[in-house]
Amino acid sequence: MVGDVVVGGDAPIAVQSMTNTPTSDAAATIEQINAIAEAGADIVRVSCPDEASTNALRMICEASPIPVIADIHFHYRRAIEAAEAGAAALRINPGNIGDAKRVGEVVAAARAAGCSMRIGVNAGSLEKHFLDKYKEPCPEAMVESALSHVRILQEHNFDDYKISVKASDVFLSVAAYRQLSAQIDCPLHIGITEAGSLMTGAVKSSIGLGQLLMEGIGDTIRVSLSADPVEEVRVAYEILKSLGLRHRGVSIIACPSCARQGFDVIATVRDLEMRLAHIKTPLTLSIIGCVVNGPGEARTADIGFTGGGHGAGMVYVEGKPDHKLPHNEMVEHLARLVEEKVAQIELATEGMA
Ligand code: SF4
Repeated sequence: MVGDVVVGGDAPIAVQSMTNTPTSDAAATIEQINAIAEAGADIVRVSCPDEASTNALRMICEASPIPVIADIHFHYRRAIEAAEAGAAALRINPGNIGDAKRVGEVVAAARAAGCSMRIGVNAGSLEKHFLDKYKEPCPEAMVESALSHVRILQEHNFDDYKISVKASDVFLSVAAYRQLSAQIDCPLHIGITEAGSLMTGAVKSSIGLGQLLMEGIGDTIRVSLSADPVEEVRVAYEILKSLGLRHRGVSIIACPSCARQGFDVIATVRDLEMRLAHIKTPLTLSIIGCVVNGPGEARTADIGFTGGGHGAGMVYVEGKPDHKLPHNEMVEHLARLVEEKVAQIELATEGMA
């Protein structure tokens, strides 16, 4: 468990992101966590580099609508403070925080506070003795490092942990996760670290995480982007939606457009995405420029639109042609249809509950 979020087994794959505000600025951090949670994140991670951060953490954990993982490097006192401040989990490598007595104190604080842990091995910060042994960061070194931290937790009879073995190189990361999952049966947090900007990082993460998720590897995911954390959550959901692992919000099926388009497909899809960003209920909407592919795509979508001649196209509801609609009224009309459909679905779901 990370707070009230189940991790591993048959639980849904949890989406994580991380704040980039100074943690000591509790108000700014809470505001960013709210945006991250609103975008659909299940869990958020917050760095605690100093005592001012762990002091602010109590207020942050109390205000956060989702469980908070405190990210700790080296400082065992910060870990204890974070556990006492209400963190749901600690991201910490027990081999890097000092002697057995210190590890014992951190484990005791985590246990007393009901905190789980994540062991987070990163190819860029492998311990020197593993680099000396393997000469360079490689899957074997990363897995051996992870298992060495696991052994320390096991010596303290602590088994509420998940593990990550991240690298910025897709091949290295994927190979490390494959080897790790073959050697240990515990939840894995997966990610391609330092993946880059929104576009580059989204592509790299999709390739790396996509392979792992298709093999059944991964229980929580983070898409690391040099971008607004809210974008990390959006990309994570697009990955999970593409693989049919989780669904959230409106999935717009759209054609790339060409000379046959009856309306400006690209601008319409952009406007609809913005207009419908507030929807959380899963629903499919097809926006297709002409009759070549429009009716076929609309058949399997909840709501569809196919561009036509003479300034108007056809709206499809549950796969069937329903009514004609002028192209220049599309965005608001389709957005309202989607909102009405969502209200119906939510009412039916409440009725079943
Ligand atoms: S569906 Fe029509 S408008 Fe869209 S790309 Fe295909 S042919 Fe072009």
